[in-house]
Parts: sequence; structure tokens; C-alpha cells
Amino acid sequence: MQQAAARFADYLSRNRLRMTRERRVILEQVLAVGKHFDVDDLLVHMRNGGLRASRATLYRTLAHLVDSGMVHKVEMAKGQARYEPMLGRHHHDHLVCLKCGEIIEFESPEVERIQEEVCRRKRFTMTGHTHQIRGYCRRCSSR
Ligand SMILES: [Zn+2]
Ligand SMILES: [Zn+2]
Ligand SMILES: [Zn+2]
Repeated sequence: MQQAAARFADYLSRNRLRMTRERRVILEQVLAVGKHFDVDDLLVHMRNGGLRASRATLYRTLAHLVDSGMVHKVEMAKGQARYEPMLGRHHHDHLVCLKCGEIIEFESPEVERIQEEVCRRKRFTMTGHTHQIRGYCRRCSSR
């Protein structure tokens, strides 16, 4: 947590923002709530711990965490989103089922290599990427 807080504080200061108590609490909760959570999961988790924050504040803070690269955002059906803290986790990408909401993680060195090559060709400095495939999982496509 100490290391995560330092990293987030560093990102915030580079963007002329301060590490407030509220941001620190939300970071703590984000790290504790688990993987592939949505804002409602986070709200429930915080409420169970006797903490309160508005939905708007959570969305704003999550957006900063996503920009900082510490949290990944997974786009779901109908504009919904799930979040995943990346601290201590290996880079991976996602397959998202639009029907049941299942999220399947995958790692492909080949896909990674091709993306890096595209950036090199375009003289683009990559700071991060999200590779996401939308569709229907095995169960939903056989139905
Ligand atoms: Zn990737
Ligand atoms: Zn499915
Ligand atoms: Zn994931």
C-alpha cells in the first residue's frame, strides 16, 4: 500500500493534484476490492467498511488511477466498465462477453510484439495499452 500510495502521489503531483485523504482511502479500497470490479462493487465494499464516497468521486478517482496505469479499465456492454488494479499483476489483455459479462484474461507475446512494432513504425512512444476483444463466450455463443 505504501508503495502504491507513493506511486499515485507521484502521478497526482505531475498533474498538479494533491494526494488527499479521500483519494488515499479510495486507492486503499480499490486495491482491496478484488479484480474486475465495477463502481457498485466498490461502493458496497466501502459501505461494508463504514466508508462513504459519492459515485462521482469514485469515477473521477478511478479515471486518475487508470491514467496513472495503476488500474486497468475494461469496457463492457452498454457503456459499462469494470476496473482492475494492476499492482503486482502481470500485463494481460481481455476477452469480454457482451451477454453474460464474463471477462477472460489472455497473454500473447505475439500480439504484444506486433503492437510494439506498430509503435516503432509510427515513431510513437507507447506508455501503455489496452487490447480488448468483444464478443460472446463459449457458453453464450452455443446458446
Ligand atoms: Zn497487451
Ligand atoms: Zn457469456
Ligand atoms: Zn484482468
